[in-house]
Amino acid sequence: MSTDCLFCKIIAGEIPATVIYEDTLLLVFRDINPQAPHHFLIVPKKHIATTLDLTAEDNELVGHVYQIAGKIARDSGFAADGFRVVNNCNDAGGQTVGHIHFHLLGGRNMTWPPG
Ligand code: 5GP
Repeated sequence: MSTDCLFCKIIAGEIPATVIYEDTLLLVFRDINPQAPHHFLIVPKKHIATTLDLTAEDNELVGHVYQIAGKIARDSGFAADGFRVVNNCNDAGGQTVGHIHFHLLGGRNMTWPPG
């Protein structure tokens, strides 16, 4: 845990969030500022700052993220229509919270390219 990290504080239960899924590796909760009818943040419990900080040790973790993204999309009823998983990295990538996370967005038609 990083003491100054917003998502570490949510994982520790120090800041409230609407949690929809949890296991030993991940916490998944609703984004406070949703950009789609369904907008969840899939957050590894291990404090990893960005995609650039992933190592081979995290390969299983990242695979698990995508497996759980599919499970949540199916369980929430928007898997068949389609959905998007987004990871923003650093400032130009749009990352605002320095703890790796994956946005799971569904419930509307997405556009390309993203903004
Ligand atoms: P990023 O911009 O780093 O890719 O995504 C960070 C996300 O965290 C944003 O979509 C933002 O709305 C969300 N967020 C920021 N602070 C909080 C919070 O305190 N609680 C929750 N649930 N989401 C937050």
